[in-house]
Amino acid sequence: MALDKLADRVIDTDVMIMGGGIAGCYCAAKAAEHGLKVTLVEKSKTDRSGCGAMGEDHYEPVQCDGVTPLEFVRLWEERQHDLNGDGRFTDRNIPYRLLDKSLWVLEESEKLGITMKWDDGEYYHMPSGWFGGPRLMIRVHWPDIKPKLARAVRRSGANILERTMVVDLLTDNGRVAGATAIDTRTGEFIVIKAKAVVLATGIFARCYEPEEPLFYKYQMKYHWCPASISGDGYAVAYRAGADLANMDITGWGLRIRDDLTISYGNFDHGDGIRAKWYTWDGDEIPYPTADKYREIELKGKDPIYVSQSHLPDDYHRRMQIAFTDEKAISFKIAEERGFNPRTHRYELMENHPLNFMVPTGVNVNDDFAASLEGLYAIGDCANGCHGCGNAALGGLLVGDNIHRFISGAGEPVINQAQVASQKQTALAPLGVKRGTEPIELELSTRYICKRYVGMLKNEGRLLEGQRRLRSLKREFLPKLMAKDPHYLMRALECRNIIDLVELHIAACLVRKETRGQFVRLDYPDKDPSRDNMITIQRLDNGNPALEIREPPDLKPEYLKEEK
Ligand SMILES: Cc1cc2nc3c(=O)[nH]c(=O)nc-3n(C[C@H](O)[C@H](O)[C@H](O)COP(=O)(O)OP(=O)(O)OC[C@H]3O[C@@H](n4cnc5c(N)ncnc54)[C@H](O)[C@@H]3O)c2cc1C
Repeated sequence: MALDKLADRVIDTDVMIMGGGIAGCYCAAKAAEHGLKVTLVEKSKTDRSGCGAMGEDHYEPVQCDGVTPLEFVRLWEERQHDLNGDGRFTDRNIPYRLLDKSLWVLEESEKLGITMKWDDGEYYHMPSGWFGGPRLMIRVHWPDIKPKLARAVRRSGANILERTMVVDLLTDNGRVAGATAIDTRTGEFIVIKAKAVVLATGIFARCYEPEEPLFYKYQMKYHWCPASISGDGYAVAYRAGADLANMDITGWGLRIRDDLTISYGNFDHGDGIRAKWYTWDGDEIPYPTADKYREIELKGKDPIYVSQSHLPDDYHRRMQIAFTDEKAISFKIAEERGFNPRTHRYELMENHPLNFMVPTGVNVNDDFAASLEGLYAIGDCANGCHGCGNAALGGLLVGDNIHRFISGAGEPVINQAQVASQKQTALAPLGVKRGTEPIELELSTRYICKRYVGMLKNEGRLLEGQRRLRSLKREFLPKLMAKDPHYLMRALECRNIIDLVELHIAACLVRKETRGQFVRLDYPDKDPSRDNMITIQRLDNGNPALEIREPPDLKPEYLKEEK
């Protein structure tokens, strides 16, 4: 069947960007500057989509105080050590490149109409970074970063498809050839022919429950933007044969139970100054890392509370500004609920993996190229590149260089059988009348992660979780129903979440050790053979394959700096 009979619309482009968050917008605007035909596909509305939708208050890395890219590589590894054990979980050339290009990004941002400077016209370097260390982090007033970026993309002439969800990638002979997508308002099935595809879909977290009190109406009330965190970019990359990295490693971080009012980020680290932590009966305790939190619980000393009442007035004023830049409504809601951040102690929530710092993602090199030819990944969905600074950097770097690949790429060849099969999968839930609601299946999947994977793992639980997930997938995935194109999007997100949870469990089973935040109760010690290793998962001829691999070393030209 001809392509125009299979698809309601066919779009021909040089580069397709999947996701119009911070990374995707930077990338689209820059790639269009090089005269490329750019198509940005965004599930939501680009003006307020993604995790940066409400705003951002801090940005890193920004090179200063003579810190060299090589030193930054060491800091990066230390930070990963704190969060996840002492492995270096990404290509080490990535942090090198990020710091090396950090000042260029500031200039490029100004050209796009995004200022990084503070009210006095200078960069506001925070006294120390997130976890201490050099002043590589700056404060930014970014409450409207998304509308500004969306305007920049529109000015660049890029084609923006909104309310459009990418379903799967199209491939041809081991290279990417475009993607299929659905319009989540009209249900149109769209084929996008592209010489290169950039994934910019954000972090994956919807396999665990949100931080909020779990009443039925808060099922999507995550700290993160719920549309971003269904892992669509990871899932399409995996199904197309690209490598995913470190799907076993979940971050662990504290959150405030009343996240609706105040989020933990500023509360604890605002301006580089830390809060204080207390047991329920008022004993001050050190920063409760995952294992300490559990110890305190077992001693019957929880809930744990965080407080800033010891900090001076000017600190509180700075925090107020930070919150206004990031989540303007926070203080208003706090006030209405009778909470005063200057005096109120906030309850910290229990162990909750995958809610913060998730270093997993599409495996990329320092050009942000994935293992499939013509495929790139930037921002939160690229392995280890979390945060708005890395999103901006990755987006600009790929946007600035992708024309080199495209000039030699040739016309993409579309495999019509592949399109037909993707269309069938994509639209199937519209034809199911008495089936399963996407949210029902999603909640069951999240429950499996919470109960059988979670923070404290063992082989028995993981195997049981795997068995239950497979049974859910077999029985209920084909029964997913969608009463309209919006629910179709939910159903397709659910399919992505299930695929990724399968990988998450498989990778956790293979890591038989305890390291940093990865806790296997049945293997309490580190396995030295896992030092500095990345867990890679991919489909080999349609079969799941897992490989433990050492990441690339620093390039010789980067090492020269040390001499
Ligand atoms: C409240 C909050 C405050 C934060 N504050 C800071 C801060 O101050 N500093 C900092 O460094 N970081 C901060 N972060 C993190 C920061 O926002 C992210 O690191 C950053 O937004 C990542 O950008 P991204 O483009 O990779 O992903 P996102 O901004 O999440 O964008 C992903 C986009 O992809 C789209 N998408 C997903 N799937 C599909 C699909 N199938 N088809 C089409 N489109 C799709 C989504 O709709 C979304 O628009 C904050 C996060 C939150 C939630």
